[in-house]
Amino acid sequence: MDIPAILGGSPVRDTKIFYGHQCIDDEDIKAVEEVLRSDFLTCGPKVNELEKTLEKICDSKYAVAVSNGTAALHCACIAAGISEGDEVITTPLTFAASANCVRYVGGTPVFADINPETYNIDPESIRSKITDRTKAVIAVDFTGQCVESEKIRAICDEYNLVFIEDAAHAIGSAYNSRPVGSLADMTTFSFHPVKTVTCGEGGAITTDNEDYYKKLVLAHTHGITHDEEMMEEAPHEGPWYYEEISLGYNYRLTDFQSALLISQLKKLDSFKKRRQEIVRRYDEAFGGIPEIIVQKEIPESDTCRHLYIIRLDLSKLKCSRREFYDAMSAENVQCQVHYVPVYLFPYYRHLGYKEGLCPNAEEIYKGILSIPLYPSMTDKDVSDVIEAVKKLTDHYRI
Ligand SMILES: *Cc1c(COP(=O)(O)O)cnc(C)c1O
Repeated sequence: MDIPAILGGSPVRDTKIFYGHQCIDDEDIKAVEEVLRSDFLTCGPKVNELEKTLEKICDSKYAVAVSNGTAALHCACIAAGISEGDEVITTPLTFAASANCVRYVGGTPVFADINPETYNIDPESIRSKITDRTKAVIAVDFTGQCVESEKIRAICDEYNLVFIEDAAHAIGSAYNSRPVGSLADMTTFSFHPVKTVTCGEGGAITTDNEDYYKKLVLAHTHGITHDEEMMEEAPHEGPWYYEEISLGYNYRLTDFQSALLISQLKKLDSFKKRRQEIVRRYDEAFGGIPEIIVQKEIPESDTCRHLYIIRLDLSKLKCSRREFYDAMSAENVQCQVHYVPVYLFPYYRHLGYKEGLCPNAEEIYKGILSIPLYPSMTDKDVSDVIEAVKKLTDHYRI
């Protein structure tokens, strides 16, 4: 049996590989350069072109490009009219922003538990957390797998809740052949470098609802409008005149970022294909290892997988998750953990959230590791990751 590198053996590879990495090519660079040489660095034509591109990809009526995924969530909460005292149900197994956005508008995040096999928010748990203060649901397509949209939609309709989908992981995924971005009342995206397509920092919201759209536009640019129909003062003083009609923020995306993202989106299909190929190889390799539990997929989801998560069955291993993580690192495979259940962070604990709130999420958190997954991984990279996992499960098997 091979000796793990952490115990003095030789690592499966000589160079470090990380759990995620952006894929930028010469076309992307050229697209940015063109904008840098043009008249508009921001508020120019590329932003509009990006929004049109997203509307097409997401099969949605409207898209609003914003400065990052967190701003997208904040704007969605504003448009949904969430305010002081309102409750919003979300998942604990997510990046903090999915809950923080509720706090930005004075609302209270309420955490529903996850399905222990898919790791996505459990619709029945959503139902059990509804009170007469519940205003919305923020469901996260964890790792890119679609949430159970049909069931969540039905619950939201029954209780008159706004259905917001945090699709930071899920651009390119589809539910029953309908693209993510066309399913919820509002869908938010992130284009951070670890996500499937990137423009450095960036985000967007898609919706079919004109009223939400107007509010999203105002929220992301100071609450200011140039649209005469929306102004209170008519006739106004002159062409320079604009009005601030609500409180908004500067959450605009720049033109050079928009150009980069348009260029990235051209490769979404090929990125998806490669991600799916790698996922298939991992599923095959790990399906046969009894100490590893792989994430279950629902048949409705055609997933453009953002993260590949292995869950260690610690009852069958004589190591902790930390030891396995360190041993992977010594093999030069750098893993990550997605995520610490949000309410266990000090900020939320100080607000009164307590351990034990979502037992499935807490239990699953203990054994998960995200292993490398990105389109530019070579077949050899994928083999190395598989070999490292096999080597360590062989070594630590009880
Ligand atoms: C990345 C991420 C966000 C936040 O996006 P930023 O662009 O980093 O602000 C929100 N929700 C989830 C699930 C994410 O993974």
